[in-house]
Amino acid sequence: MTQDNLAVDFDFQFPQKPVPLNNEERAQYKEKIKQLLKEKNAVLVAHYYTDPEIQALAEETGGCVADSLEMARFGKQHPAETLIVAGVKFMGETAKILTPEKTVLMPELEATCSLDLGCPIEEFSAFCDKHPDHTVVVYANTSAAVKARADWVVTSSIALEIVEMLESEGKPILWGPDRHLGAYIEKETGAEMLMWQGACIVHDEFKAKALRELKKQYPEAGVLVHPESPANVIEIADAVGSTSQLIKASQEMPNQHFIVATDKGIFYKMEQASPNKTFIAAPTGGNGATCKSCASCPWMAMNGLKSIVAALESPVGREIEVAPALAEKAMIPLTRMLNFAAENKLAVKGNA
Ligand code: SF4
Repeated sequence: MTQDNLAVDFDFQFPQKPVPLNNEERAQYKEKIKQLLKEKNAVLVAHYYTDPEIQALAEETGGCVADSLEMARFGKQHPAETLIVAGVKFMGETAKILTPEKTVLMPELEATCSLDLGCPIEEFSAFCDKHPDHTVVVYANTSAAVKARADWVVTSSIALEIVEMLESEGKPILWGPDRHLGAYIEKETGAEMLMWQGACIVHDEFKAKALRELKKQYPEAGVLVHPESPANVIEIADAVGSTSQLIKASQEMPNQHFIVATDKGIFYKMEQASPNKTFIAAPTGGNGATCKSCASCPWMAMNGLKSIVAALESPVGREIEVAPALAEKAMIPLTRMLNFAAENKLAVKGNA
């Protein structure tokens, strides 16, 4: 990492958690959602980090549970005219960029991401302008405007290959916004990148010391780590990868127990894929430290049954808009990544 890196403020305001519903209310809202999805010709696509109940509902109603790019791709090929994106705002924007002709609604437009919040377009663009000779590579967890400013958009599953290729061509790279993923890429590829100093508030909290202690209690457990986690946590991992790669690893590795350093929402798909295995959340607060997110993204948690009903009944104020000219610009680096993946026969999956 070079010295010309940029610090950002991590003191984000966390949103209120939705008011818990009782069993009867939950059943009523679910029935209502099923009926409204049909009436409105809509499909529900949910991210791996949303509440398991939302993920189950997406599957039950013919939608999908996936990472941000796969959610957008699924929405594009699905015949529904309206997509309900249960996730965070940049995911809704990615869906809209890929499918501008469809209506993209979000249960809560305020559901965002510390990586997106911590990388405002004006500051990021000024950082890029200072280094015009650098190729700008941004992670999928960014706003449409930041994507439009980039030369390449990458997901966590293809970032290593793309940076390796750029490095082999001798191109200086400017990376944003996740500093931990950036440091991991630098270590794995040998590239030296100018780095934006963003972080995911969920993965940033995983603690290496406490993880080593937990591993002593479960010596047989496989340790699965998302690369948005700090380097000393990644060091302990048996498998490092994007959400989809971690789910796959949990299926393919022979271990019966797994300690998982990513949002706990992912346990739904891991347990579904391997019902006889046990999944344990990696510690977020060792040695008296307190966790803020506690392995559960506060913005993902805003996607509740009640707000899905509200989006379907009264979409005003819940629709994702991306100006066509901006969407067109953002499609350029996205298309570059998709073409690179197709040419190299790589899967493009993964984000927070
Ligand atoms: S888990 Fe982290 S990266 Fe994913 S949406 Fe939440 S804050 Fe963003």
